[in-house]
Amino acid sequence: MKDKRRKYVKNNMNVLKIILILLSGISIILLAFLWLKLEDKSEKVEENDDVSNKTEQSNIIEVVVPNKKKITDWRLILVNKENPLPKDFVIELENIDETKQFDKRAIGELRRMIQAIKNSGINNIWVQSAYRSIEYQQNLYDNKINDYLNKGATKEEAEKLTLEYINKPGESEHNLGLAVDFNNVNNDFKNTKAFEWLNDNAKEYGFIMRYPEEKAEITGVAYEPWHWRYVGRDNAYKMEELNMCLEEYRKYLEEN
Ligand SMILES: [Zn+2]
Repeated sequence: MKDKRRKYVKNNMNVLKIILILLSGISIILLAFLWLKLEDKSEKVEENDDVSNKTEQSNIIEVVVPNKKKITDWRLILVNKENPLPKDFVIELENIDETKQFDKRAIGELRRMIQAIKNSGINNIWVQSAYRSIEYQQNLYDNKINDYLNKGATKEEAEKLTLEYINKPGESEHNLGLAVDFNNVNNDFKNTKAFEWLNDNAKEYGFIMRYPEEKAEITGVAYEPWHWRYVGRDNAYKMEELNMCLEEYRKYLEEN
């Protein structure tokens, strides 16, 4: 009896051992499988990260370089330090008087505007400067530099002081034939009746005050109440409505 029982227990123990070995074997396989699965997943996550980074980057590029619309309106040509007159620039001029000229396409509006100022009873108005050829601008620039040099300024100082009022040739709106300076070309002009009239009515003839005080940082030019630029009636009205200077308005047109 005892032997039989011992044998029974022994058999059972063997079965248990086999089950245990099998179980541990299965667990090892399962663990290994899980481990491999996890590794695989993390690799995929990394891949996904890469993909999302790429799309993010391409989105950023799209924001930085939007599809800009090309401005073809000749009345909105931008000329400044960063945008000198194109080398192939040609212009048809017409005379305002014996010495001064303006763009042929806009001179009618300039004449009508000056006549309207006079018709309103303001006679203290005259064109001091309009179109300037590159050569003339060069002379103006060189003379001013020499003035400062003769007064004892260094070359750097003379250039800096000159550039406050006279642009380098090809970097002035006067080279375009679309800008006009009134009266004595100084800040006192802002206290005149003519200036007041221009502020109220110039847009009607397509002219804007090109360098307002509050836009100096954008235009890069200090306040010039005497300097008026032709942009056309529709543009002048729109710029006033949007409270934009030419630089801002062009950007607005390029992006809308
Ligand atoms: Zn000017």
